[in-house]
Amino acid sequence: MHYISTRGTAPKLTFEEAMMTGLARDGGLYVPEDIPGLSHAQIAAMAGQSYEDVAYAVMRPFIGDTFTDDEFRGLIDAAYAGFNHAARAPLKQLDSNHFLLELFHGPTLAFKDFAMQLIGQMFQASLTRSGKRITIVGATSGDTGSAAIEAFRGLSNVDVFILFPHGRVSEVQRRQMTTPTEDNVHALALDGDFDDCQAALKDMFNDFDFRDGVNLAGVNSINWGRVLAQVVYFFTSAVAVGAPHRPVSFTVPTGNFGDIFAGYIAKRMGLPIDKLVIATNQNDILHRTLETGAQVKEGVTPSISPSMDIQVSSNFERALFEAYGRDGVTVAEQMDDLKSKGSFTISQGAIDMLRDTFASGRASEEETYHAITSELTRSGELLCPHSAVGVHVADAHQSDVPMITLATAHPAKFPAAVEKATGIHPPLPPHMADLYDRPERVERVPNDLAALQTLIKERIAK
Ligand SMILES: *Cc1c(COP(=O)(O)O)cnc(C)c1O
Repeated sequence: MHYISTRGTAPKLTFEEAMMTGLARDGGLYVPEDIPGLSHAQIAAMAGQSYEDVAYAVMRPFIGDTFTDDEFRGLIDAAYAGFNHAARAPLKQLDSNHFLLELFHGPTLAFKDFAMQLIGQMFQASLTRSGKRITIVGATSGDTGSAAIEAFRGLSNVDVFILFPHGRVSEVQRRQMTTPTEDNVHALALDGDFDDCQAALKDMFNDFDFRDGVNLAGVNSINWGRVLAQVVYFFTSAVAVGAPHRPVSFTVPTGNFGDIFAGYIAKRMGLPIDKLVIATNQNDILHRTLETGAQVKEGVTPSISPSMDIQVSSNFERALFEAYGRDGVTVAEQMDDLKSKGSFTISQGAIDMLRDTFASGRASEEETYHAITSELTRSGELLCPHSAVGVHVADAHQSDVPMITLATAHPAKFPAAVEKATGIHPPLPPHMADLYDRPERVERVPNDLAALQTLIKERIAK
């Protein structure tokens, strides 16, 4: 199994290399050269299996000989042992044909833990073998950062730097990043928005002297290992509501297009997914793209679902690559247009393909609050604002096909919005109950590439 870049010119890599590399050297994203399929019988056999069993069956064909079978199975078991629910990703019923996939039972209460805990295990196994030391730099709209810190804190061969937009993450999110005490953890509050954080990170990867000098590794959602780990729960949940014997649809609260692209991979592997519905908040670039056929960047307006406050949706490039029949030259041109002109227009053939697979919708701030309030009445579920965006959009896409909406974070991560909608202050789970009492450690940094690079070099030299 080899991995190729969406921009067509970077070298082919193994799974291990693609995972450690993050961004390809031509600026593209790595995707598997072929997408392995699972048969009807293989998918049917997942009914009643443990999350870990399904995870192994889904991911094993993608990892080549990076790990032995036993080793890989051990890494999966270790990754999910710290989750607070035996099912790992339990399914709740909201209405007769609408289900909620709870992805917030990991250590930092958001779906990012599913991928990051596994990536942490895989990086550690790989670095132990090679004796290398790496520098992880991540950009976060809030949840990736805490999940990455949780996965890599205290590891002796890793320094982890997390860039988050100053003042634009929730207090729980910020404290999860700033209260870990390990020396290898560095939380950086950048003066800018999430797109600025992500742009700074991309610039660091494209500065090859810096990249090679610090052994830069990426764990953002462009990392193929993360997408892969997220494919698993599309299978476990679809099988629970009747796949592969009947089709299922999914609604996915979307920002960087990582989670929903994992759903696309599940579909390509043979899972009978009818529609993959993109749900955005008021920062609705992806919804507008699907409606108009053009991607046009606007400013980011902060919302109550901050993890989706984004205009440059990195993983959309992977979907575009598939929509253009894997034509890396065209993808590179479109991405250049986005960077230089702030927009690009998708060809008719490619937009037809995207509309065939994906549907979309958006929720305003008011609609998001309303979805939190009305879901509490309908089913008794307390939704986080991101999950509420999903439920709002899913309700508009109901059909006779079962709909599964992804609940991407625990309501206690966004208590202000939840309390405003319902009057209920969602309590933090016991393992985090003292979060507000722990001292914080954070550095405020300017949106300046050279200054950031100097700071990172200084910190890792210590
Ligand atoms: C990251 C995140 C999202 C968006 O996921 P993408 O993979 O970036 O599309 C949605 N909700 C929450 C709570 C998140 O943390």
